[in-house]
Amino acid sequence: MSIYCSGCGRSIPDDSNVCPYCGKKIEITEKSLRKVESEQKDKTALIIAVVVIVVVAIPILIAIAATFFVYSSSIASYEMISDMQTPSVLFSKDDTENTLTVIMTTTSDSWSSILINGEGTLPSGSIDEYDVITGCSGTVTLTWEPTNTLLGSWTFS
Ligand SMILES: [Zn+2]
Repeated sequence: MSIYCSGCGRSIPDDSNVCPYCGKKIEITEKSLRKVESEQKDKTALIIAVVVIVVVAIPILIAIAATFFVYSSSIASYEMISDMQTPSVLFSKDDTENTLTVIMTTTSDSWSSILINGEGTLPSGSIDEYDVITGCSGTVTLTWEPTNTLLGSWTFS
């Protein structure tokens, strides 16, 4: 960087104390001017840094936020699908007693979620092991109503 002599107007090195052309002493005001210029450069550097942060960092933050949002909403929809899955309810058929007995269940939902097609009396309350469907005859079909899925079909003699 160079400055201009206030005496002869020529460009001189900025570390000069005396003009090499006319011998004029370089005034403190000119050095102050240089200082102002370098402060101006510092400000420019700061503005560039801020712009870089805004241009680079904000899109990265948005990308991270968007990724997190997509991830969490996919978890939410996965949980919704799981909620809609048909539970496993296994029955043991007794032809002598005309009963179907729950031997295993993955749900404790109400029996009102199960639709019976054919003759038989469903228990009430929550579905638990050892619950018994009594009075079965002919073909008895059980359907899980929330997903309209067949749980099983049994034919009594
Ligand atoms: Zn000069």
